[in-house]
Amino acid sequence: MKTHVPFFRPDLCEPEIDEVVASLRSGWLTTGPRVKRFEEEFAQAVSASHAVAMNSCTAALHLAIDALGVGPGDGVLVPTLTFAATAEVVRYVGGIPILVDCHPVTLNMDLDHAEQMINRVQAGERVASLPRIERVVGMIPVHVAGLMMDIDEVKSFATRHDLWVVDDAAHAFPAAWRSGPADPWQQCGQQTAVVSCFSFYANKTITTGEGGMAVTADPDVAAHMRLMSLHGLSHDSWDRYAGKGSWDYRILAPGYKYNMTDIAAAIGIHQLARAETMRRDRELIATRYLVALRDVEEIELPLIDANRIHAWHLFPIRLHPRKSKIDRNAFIRELNDAGVSCSVHWRPLHLHPYYEQTFAWKPQDLPVASEVWTRLVSLPLFSSMKSEEVDAVVTVVRTLLGRSAARSTVHVG
Ligand SMILES: *Cc1c(COP(=O)(O)O)cnc(C)c1O
Repeated sequence: MKTHVPFFRPDLCEPEIDEVVASLRSGWLTTGPRVKRFEEEFAQAVSASHAVAMNSCTAALHLAIDALGVGPGDGVLVPTLTFAATAEVVRYVGGIPILVDCHPVTLNMDLDHAEQMINRVQAGERVASLPRIERVVGMIPVHVAGLMMDIDEVKSFATRHDLWVVDDAAHAFPAAWRSGPADPWQQCGQQTAVVSCFSFYANKTITTGEGGMAVTADPDVAAHMRLMSLHGLSHDSWDRYAGKGSWDYRILAPGYKYNMTDIAAAIGIHQLARAETMRRDRELIATRYLVALRDVEEIELPLIDANRIHAWHLFPIRLHPRKSKIDRNAFIRELNDAGVSCSVHWRPLHLHPYYEQTFAWKPQDLPVASEVWTRLVSLPLFSSMKSEEVDAVVTVVRTLLGRSAARSTVHVG
């Protein structure tokens, strides 16, 4: 019997379900005691002083850059190899995303290329057809798949160019980094940036269905994000619930409707408690893939680094540019036909109509991402994956590549 392996299946247990039911029975559905608890426990988990829960990571990123005062004419360095959210939030506030190429192996933002971009912009040189950039103010690195960037390098780059850093940490919980084997571990969100933004979308490392969290050490930034996440009202409904506030709120700014519900936080509280267990489950699966596919020359495997605790949100493999005889799209089709659902992270932003048409980005402006994305395939990786499912993926990948390699070989006789 053929095993069908989905790309993702959420890992939800009885405590999540019971807590949602308890939230429903309590009569308090929207932002209230469970959101407050989730924020406190999440802040503690990443050793951050402040955590503001929102209804998505996109909302968190938006309010982070809003709190930092990004506005029209401001340039922000954003990797081209990322999800839509990282760059669109810069557009929300009238800023200009300056796309940066990726490292061919880690897939994270290439800081040498970022340096070139910032120098070109500051020299008044034309980059694609970006509008005039008054000043480059910040950068939004993404820790792709859950492999953290080198935080020392990010920070020294940012300091050198007087930039703030906001982490798009959508893949990076729980994840950690250290400078070297003798140095202490630092959690993603533990002052790795001014603000670190996490995602609890359905298929992320922990989920609330839809949800996000912004963490920061800066009380003013936290206060601004909290204010703007609920219509710019002077009291949030938690304060009103706790009897601290009253009917007489004040509108302090034209805010947004980005608050998290208690129903979502009910799921999050118990996902958070199991986050490290689920990460270890994914790490074991990733290790099995790394061992079982080690000898397959047609593919390049993700990097592991002794100075990283990898969140293993994704397992992106790259088809070898010469040794693989099968094209990526055909490979994914064949994987699907064999019952294994895969995905691609991502078509780079500069190859999407909006960025192509609005800013005239060309493939050659970001050559590494333009090339590497045509070889990328994300294999299924999730904590509730069964042993047979891991075996099935390995067998199908090996068989398909073996077959395609054999096809190109001339057999005599
Ligand atoms: C999923 C994702 C987001 C957006 O998260 P939401 O919670 O869905 O808003 C942002 N950036 C990256 C890199 C992501 O993968």
